[in-house]
Amino acid sequence: MNNLLEDTFTKELPQDPILENTRRQVEKACYSFVIPKKTANPKLLHVAPEMAATLGINNDFLTTKEFLEIVTGNKVVDNSKPYAMCYGGHQFGNWAGQLGDGRAINLGEIVHDKKRWFLQLKGAGETPYSRTADGLAVLRSSVREYLCSEAMFYLGVPTTRALSLSLTGDNVLRDMLYNGNQAFEKGAIVSRVAPSFLRFGNYEIFSSRQDYKTLKTLVDYTIKHFYPHITENGKVGYIQFFKEVAERTLTMIIHWQRVGFVHGVMNTDNLSILGLTIDYGPYGWLEGYDTDWTPNTTDRQHKRYRYGNQPNIGLWNLYQLANSVYPLIEDAEPLEAILEDYNNNYASQYLDMMSAKVGFFAKDEKDAQLLEALEAVLQTIETDMTLFFRLLSDVSKKDSASLAVTKIKEAFYSPEALKENILTNWENWFTRYLKRLAIESFSDAERKEKMHLVNPKYVLRNYMAQLAIDKADEGDYSLIDELYTLLKNPYDEQPDNEKWFAKRPEWARNKVGCSMLSCSS
Ligand code: AMP
Ligand code: MG
Repeated sequence: MNNLLEDTFTKELPQDPILENTRRQVEKACYSFVIPKKTANPKLLHVAPEMAATLGINNDFLTTKEFLEIVTGNKVVDNSKPYAMCYGGHQFGNWAGQLGDGRAINLGEIVHDKKRWFLQLKGAGETPYSRTADGLAVLRSSVREYLCSEAMFYLGVPTTRALSLSLTGDNVLRDMLYNGNQAFEKGAIVSRVAPSFLRFGNYEIFSSRQDYKTLKTLVDYTIKHFYPHITENGKVGYIQFFKEVAERTLTMIIHWQRVGFVHGVMNTDNLSILGLTIDYGPYGWLEGYDTDWTPNTTDRQHKRYRYGNQPNIGLWNLYQLANSVYPLIEDAEPLEAILEDYNNNYASQYLDMMSAKVGFFAKDEKDAQLLEALEAVLQTIETDMTLFFRLLSDVSKKDSASLAVTKIKEAFYSPEALKENILTNWENWFTRYLKRLAIESFSDAERKEKMHLVNPKYVLRNYMAQLAIDKADEGDYSLIDELYTLLKNPYDEQPDNEKWFAKRPEWARNKVGCSMLSCSS
C-alpha cells in the first residue's frame, strides 16, 4: 500500500492547528490530524478482494501482518498523515452543531488506474469530534456496514465501499437499546473506501459559523476533484455544482426505493456530497412492503426516515445544503428552481423505475395510476417486496388474473388471509395489469429477463445479517463469507442458494437486530 500518499485533502484544505487529541470545537479548519488507537489483538475477519484489486493492492499483501496492522490502525504507513474531518449536521430535523468524524479516521488517498480513493477506518478510536462517545465500533454494526456496503455496490446502488472487517480484541461497552442495559461487546473496525467521504454537513458547518472563506475553499476543492467537468467559475459553477449534487442524491434515493433499502438515519451529516449511500447504521430492508416502515427504533415515534419518506427527506436535506452554499451564490432563484426540479424529476424517475420493476417498457398514460394501485394493494396484506417483484416476472400475458395471483402467492406472509375483499382487490389489479401487459412488444421471456435486471433475487435481509453476526460472535465467520459471496450476484439465479430467496422467518419478526435497530453501534 505504498500508493497511499497522494493526499489532496490535507494538502489543499485548512487544518486544525491543534494537534492534541482533545475534544473541542474546531474552527476555520476542515480536519484535525489524529492517530488511530492501538488495538489489543487485531484479527482480520474478511477482506473484499475485488475492492482490494480496485485499489491496486496485491492479493498476497492481504494476508500479511502488515495489512492487518494498517487496517486496524496499529501501523501508520510512511506518508500517511491520518486525520478526522470536521462537519456539522441536521439531526432528525434540528441543527446539531459540530459533529465530525467521531470514530472515523482517514488514512489518506490511494490512486490506482487513474482513480482516487479515500481510505478510512471506522471504529479506530477517539478524535477531537468524538463528543461524549468512545470512538469505537462493535462487531454487530461493523458486520452490517461491511456486508451491506458491498451488497449495495453489486446491486448497482451508489455507495461507499468496504475493504476489510476486523476484530480489535478490545471490549466496548454499549447500551444497545438505550434502555439502561449496558454490556460489553466485541470491538471491530471496518476499513472503508470512497471517492470522497464529504457530506452535506461538511459545508453546513462553515455556513453556520459564517466562515464563508473556508466554505468557499472547500466547495472549490470539491468541484476541482469530484466535479472536474464543471469549469465555470464563481456563481455559475456553484449553481451547477448544487444542481449535480441534487441530481445524484435523487438518483441514489430512487435506487433505494427500487431495492427496498431504508437508510434509517438520513441526517445531513449522513448524506454524501457525491450521492453515495454512506454510514450504514440502523438501516434495514423492506420485507413486507410498507411505506411507513423504518428499522430505526430511535425514530419510532415520528418515523421521519420511513421508507416512503426518503425522497422527501432527500429534498429537505438539499434545502439545508442550498442554504449553506447560498452565501457563495447570493441568488435564491436558481437554487429554488433546482429544488423544484427535484420534485418533478422524482415523479418521472420514480415512474420509470417502477415501470421497469413491473415490466412496462412501452409507455401508457395510465401507468402511474396502475402503479399507485399496486402500492395500495401491496399493503392490503403483508407482501414480501423482494419476492413479489421477482415472482411477478413469472406471470405470462396469457394468464388469467387468478392464475397470476397464484404465481405471486409465495410473497404473502399469511396466504390464508388472502380471501374476500383482499383477494378481489388483487384479482382486480391483475386484471388491469394483464390488460396493460398486452401492449408490450417483448415476449414473456424477454420481459422476464429485463425485469430480473432491476428486481434483485437476493438482498441482505435484516435477519440474514443478524445470523451472520450471531455466528461471528461465537467465532464462526463462515456466514459472513457466504453472504458476501451470495450478494455479489444479487440478480442471478443461484440454485444452490434458494434458501435465501425466502420470506423472513417468523422468529425474526420482532427480534432485536432483525426488525429493531438503534443508533447505538
Ligand atoms: P451517525 O448519525 O451515527 O452517523 O453519527 C452521528 C455523529 O456521532 C457523528 O459525528 C459520528 O462520528 C458520531 N459518533 C457515532 N458513534 C460514535 C462513537 N462511538 N464514538 C464517537 N463518535 C461517534
Ligand atoms: Mg454518520
